[in-house]
Amino acid sequence: MKPFMARVVQKFGGTSVADPEKIVRAAKKAALRHAAGDQVVVVVSAMGKQTDLLVRLAGQITDSPSARELDMLLSTGEQVSVSLFAMALQSMGHKAVSLTGGQIGIRTDSSHTRARIQSISTDHVRGLLEGGAIVIAAGFQGFDPDGNITTLGRGGSDTTAVALAAVLNADRCEIYTDVDGIYTTDPRVHCGAARLATVSHDEMLELASLGAGVMHSRSIEFAKKFGVPIIVRSSFEDGPGTEISSGLTSRRTVSGVALAKDEARVTVEDVPDQPGASHQLFAELASNGISVDMIIQNAGTGGTADISFTVTNQDVPAALEITNSVAGRLRAAGVTHDPDVAKVSIVGSGMVDAEGVAATMFDALSAAKINVHMITTSEIKVSVLVDRKNAQKSVEAAHKAFGLDGFVDESFPGDAAPVQKSDPLEVVRRLEGMEDLAIEDCQLDMSQALVTFMNLPDTPGVAAAVFEEVGRAGLNVDMIVQSFPRNGRAEISFTVPASDRQRALAAAKNIAQTRGAETTDVPEVAKLSITGVGIRSHAGVADKLFAPLADAGINIDLISTSEVRVNVLVAAEHGERSLSILRTAFELK
Ligand code: ASP
Ligand code: MG
Repeated sequence: MKPFMARVVQKFGGTSVADPEKIVRAAKKAALRHAAGDQVVVVVSAMGKQTDLLVRLAGQITDSPSARELDMLLSTGEQVSVSLFAMALQSMGHKAVSLTGGQIGIRTDSSHTRARIQSISTDHVRGLLEGGAIVIAAGFQGFDPDGNITTLGRGGSDTTAVALAAVLNADRCEIYTDVDGIYTTDPRVHCGAARLATVSHDEMLELASLGAGVMHSRSIEFAKKFGVPIIVRSSFEDGPGTEISSGLTSRRTVSGVALAKDEARVTVEDVPDQPGASHQLFAELASNGISVDMIIQNAGTGGTADISFTVTNQDVPAALEITNSVAGRLRAAGVTHDPDVAKVSIVGSGMVDAEGVAATMFDALSAAKINVHMITTSEIKVSVLVDRKNAQKSVEAAHKAFGLDGFVDESFPGDAAPVQKSDPLEVVRRLEGMEDLAIEDCQLDMSQALVTFMNLPDTPGVAAAVFEEVGRAGLNVDMIVQSFPRNGRAEISFTVPASDRQRALAAAKNIAQTRGAETTDVPEVAKLSITGVGIRSHAGVADKLFAPLADAGINIDLISTSEVRVNVLVAAEHGERSLSILRTAFELK
């Protein structure tokens, strides 16, 4: 075997290989790296808008092409670009071999057009690399157990690249694209967006799934699971790009503001407040392949509670049909929905140690006169639901409030902790079910109290005013949830350390009184946190969590979900039992 400096995966997106000239330019980058002594695997997307063209072509034959044939068709786009790329390298005097997903041995499940990788064999690629060749791998495609060609979903070449980097134990994965890195927010939405020098896997996971384009969120799941550092940079200009890796410590509180523009809200009103209600609803949505985003249940009065959730706009008709039928069975009062909402989120690993982050965001929105419909928070993000017409204004307000306008990121990739290279045997062991959901841990926290405001006026600025006062009282707030208001009245819940309960209550009573609202509290709640990778991209995780609790007759008081974590609150007396139920459900020791 020839000694080599490093093993690198370079991925070139569609715009980077849009024409022959660009292919040659990209090939030069790979050639340069190879000449420097590195082993190089290149992953390419289809040229330019080729995949869109192919989709349109199918549409000219039939309105409903079968998914299998669609995959057969779409995979040709990458077959064109890999072969041209290899020719470019060969004409520069390099040894290069192009391979389809099938030739590499990228095994997936059989869900055509959105297949998940199950395993990747590495022998063939390793052999070629060791023989001195540059390997050009077709992104986005694989084959199922019956030998059918599958694709990984639009944008899936990122996932191919990171997965290959993981199984080959590559030193890094470089993503060449048409932007020069990851930005604090989408520069097309807000011109004050700034490039980040570094961002952590967790932050990127949240940002990618919260609507910050750039990377396929499943690729970040891989990167986190297998510890692959990623560098995102422009293929057209030289620059440092953005490094995505674990163990980064930045001094920022908030790293980015993400916008999911095409959200819709669905609310089931007055659901009899009994264990199992949310389970029925979310089980049915999940089994129909509808992935639910925000889930919020209010504390409930008079034996009923409202359950609100968001889905993407395209899932609205199916979601409504299912929700209406479940609501009927549960004897809920009715179902309302709003197709014109957007979710704005702030994300930052630094939030964990900072105080008043949510309050700062609410304050900025309030100053911009934007009404907030729903709120959820998790350890590293705060998400709010607003009217779609206010989406851009909300992003701008939040971006500015956290000092991100024109921000110069002085952290540099060298700050990152050195990568923990996995033992090759360990990687091989984990290859089975590569893209499976990985629930890593379930923990119980009995140290918190829950305070709820009911009947707050639903006007812009209420959340801001409430949390400004809460902050002034020196209370350290953990979770915050605002459910969808009814009849002009909003309900907001938050948790504080149980030792601060008296102070929290006194402050809350004051705040409520001046606004004609009431408060209730639960002196001791049990907070269960499930952490892992793939939580949101696998439909039905939330349900896997509701079902066993419902079966045990345990009612969930509050829930918040994020990419890497689901938090649920249950009554303190059910804490220990819930923990063991969930550990069993997720097969944790
Ligand atoms: N060519 C595929 C698409 O356009 C895959 C990719 O670009 O990542 O979605
Ligand atoms: Mg692409």
